[in-house]
Amino acid sequence: GLELKDLTLAYGDVEVVRDISLRVDPGTTTCIIGPSGSGKSTLLRGINRLHEPKSGDVILDGASTLGKHPDQLRRKIGMVFQHFNLFPDHTALENVALSPWKVKRLPKKTAFELARARLAEVGLRERADHKPRDLSGGQQQRVAIARALAMEPQVMLFDEATSALDPELVNGVLNLMASLSGRGMTMVVVTHEMGFARRAANQVVFMDEGQIVETGTPEDIFDRPQSTRLQRFLSEVL
Ligand code: ATP
Ligand code: MG
Repeated sequence: GLELKDLTLAYGDVEVVRDISLRVDPGTTTCIIGPSGSGKSTLLRGINRLHEPKSGDVILDGASTLGKHPDQLRRKIGMVFQHFNLFPDHTALENVALSPWKVKRLPKKTAFELARARLAEVGLRERADHKPRDLSGGQQQRVAIARALAMEPQVMLFDEATSALDPELVNGVLNLMASLSGRGMTMVVVTHEMGFARRAANQVVFMDEGQIVETGTPEDIFDRPQSTRLQRFLSEVL
């Protein structure tokens, strides 16, 4: 599991995420919702140290990670972004195989076999030899998910993974994420998709102005919101 302890992140002197404490139990999915600018992306980037926290700690399977090299952490925590960030000159298969081969240093053949299996899992067996530009946005995002999974991460982070997709491609990616969640992947998902949060989350976290305002089950958050801020947010997005 993953635990955040009093995590604070700043740009210069401005603290945009303040004293966040959160537990994500192994095999569970936590969805983070909240208005634009509330610090959701900054928080995710703090978890795998794309943004160095100002204070606090990130605990992975019981061990503090802030003293460790970020590369070590990023092998254990996969991340999927809004824009897929695939390598444009490599095929789908190469995109998935490169990290297991070059970073994990698996034998090339093993890395490519593993990549092929991951691509099949996300429904892209037939697209393995396509370059990103010859894939739809939804297919590219599924390659990005397969690439993160190929490192066998302990936790997967998703930051608005479907926001850049054409509407008709959104559900394919959400269904894939829901199936990962259902198979017991530990996930932290920043999303505007309230329907996904309701059906896939074990825990929903509402952030506003850099802090957690409310945490609960999907029923707590969507059916029984306590704070005025969450009530107002839901009335705007639902
Ligand atoms: P959205 O839903 O629009 O993606 P968010 O909840 O992900 O928003 P963040 O991107 O984490 O919000 O931004 C949190 C705050 O940090 C905002 O006030 C934003 O303006 C500020 N911020 C983000 N990136 C930077 C940066 N590189 N330098 C300075 N401030 C930043
Ligand atoms: Mg964001």
